[in-house]
Amino acid sequence: MDHQERRGGHGMADVLILGGGPAGTVLARRLTALGYGVTLVTCARRAAMEGLSLRAVEGLRRAGCTEAVAAAGRPASRRVDWNGRRTALNGEHLVDRNSLDAALLRDAAAGGAVLTRGTVAALEQGKNGWRAVDATGAVLGSGRFLVEARGRRAPNAPARETGPRTLAVGRVYHGPAGELGSAALSFADGWAWLAALPDGRRVVQLVIDGADSPARANLTDWHEAVVAALPEAAGWVAGCTPMGEAEVRDATAVRRSPGVTADRLRIGDAAFAVDPLSGHGVYAAVAWAFAAAAAVNTLATDPTAWPAVERFVEERCAELFAHAADAGNQFYRAEERWRDRPFWRRRAAWPPAPLPTAEHGIRRRAVVVNDRIEERPVLVTPALPRGVLAIGGVELYPLLESMNAGPSRGGDLAERCGRSLVQPPGRVAAALSWLVENGFLPGGQSRPGP
Ligand SMILES: Cc1cc2nc3c(=O)[nH]c(=O)nc-3n(C[C@H](O)[C@H](O)[C@H](O)COP(=O)(O)OP(=O)(O)OC[C@H]3O[C@@H](n4cnc5c(N)ncnc54)[C@H](O)[C@@H]3O)c2cc1C
Repeated sequence: MDHQERRGGHGMADVLILGGGPAGTVLARRLTALGYGVTLVTCARRAAMEGLSLRAVEGLRRAGCTEAVAAAGRPASRRVDWNGRRTALNGEHLVDRNSLDAALLRDAAAGGAVLTRGTVAALEQGKNGWRAVDATGAVLGSGRFLVEARGRRAPNAPARETGPRTLAVGRVYHGPAGELGSAALSFADGWAWLAALPDGRRVVQLVIDGADSPARANLTDWHEAVVAALPEAAGWVAGCTPMGEAEVRDATAVRRSPGVTADRLRIGDAAFAVDPLSGHGVYAAVAWAFAAAAAVNTLATDPTAWPAVERFVEERCAELFAHAADAGNQFYRAEERWRDRPFWRRRAAWPPAPLPTAEHGIRRRAVVVNDRIEERPVLVTPALPRGVLAIGGVELYPLLESMNAGPSRGGDLAERCGRSLVQPPGRVAAALSWLVENGFLPGGQSRPGP
């Protein structure tokens, strides 16, 4: 794709993104920053309150989503009542997803993406690209490359891994304004997330096994009864007025395929959705968007790089899912009081996808370099199975090579290597320390063995 050809607007964009949640909007910003024309088609989402991890907000900041960062506000204190113990955790940013997503769309538009509001009902593939149409057949947007970012509502791709079926039944209340905070607490048949927003809204979200699903008609009565039986939850909303009925959301962990081809890719919850207990959902969607920007950029400029892109995207998808599954699983195992109850038994038994492991050494891996995916030698340790390409901008493998090639004596090592790599000696010294700490250089030795 030629740079001059790139455009959005009413013609065919370079990239058509379906879905304006964290994944779609952050990708739109990354791609417009790289000079691509982007059309983003999205429709209204269901109301929801969520807690964003500090890492998720840091990712939004890195993507330049200043409106979204402002909407996330300051982090609230968070505590966990689990296995009979109360613990204070890192804070989380409590957000009304409608406000957050509206801010994300403003960020995407400010970056130059063309926004279209509408519900995509079908996709048409032509000779030059993709068209998204609504239920009346009206074209909502078109683009040469298609990104599916419609979250859990995206048309399903086959699931590769699925956790126990999980539902979240939430209800919003209104109480005195001013308090900010959240709590997670376990109970015999699930766990609850409690949140208090500064505008006085309070949330009680009950996460239960799919098999315990209350009938839709009785959802609110069921929610009321469970809250009444949990003193902590009842206290959280004491004196508050319900703002509507209880609502249910599917919260099952599921990994699908990122479905990467030369002209399409699935990202965010459309590719994999994690258990809310992990607290990784929005973070994973944002991290995905960064990886996807490199994937799209690489395919647009070099379609022959497709095998490396596919490998990278598949690995990244499996890895993000495995980390989130592992984080959730650790919480489920930590609750020992109700091990025999179906909710806890099923989740403790669900083996999360094993985290990648690797032996110490040098491997060729697909990595992101300057917003492109390339195969490069990386240094792998059991603790860093994906491998490390560079420390402080100094690529590690060329550094090891430069030590093998250069004289072993005379002058400062960091200065000598820095000269051959055209890098400041301070940075090279930091990279050399990393090599020593991680067993690639014996301590104090000036060049790797033998
Ligand atoms: C019950 C529950 C609680 C959660 N709590 C948290 C939490 O506390 N913290 C956290 O980090 N994560 C949480 N998550 C996960 C988080 O919601 C997702 O991981 C995250 O929103 C994924 O972002 P996304 O951009 O991939 O998808 P989404 O945020 O789902 O965005 C998809 C977008 O596509 C749009 N769309 C859908 N269909 C169409 C269509 N046909 N046409 C056009 N547009 C369409 C939607 O309206 C939406 O704007 C929770 C999830 C659940 C189910």
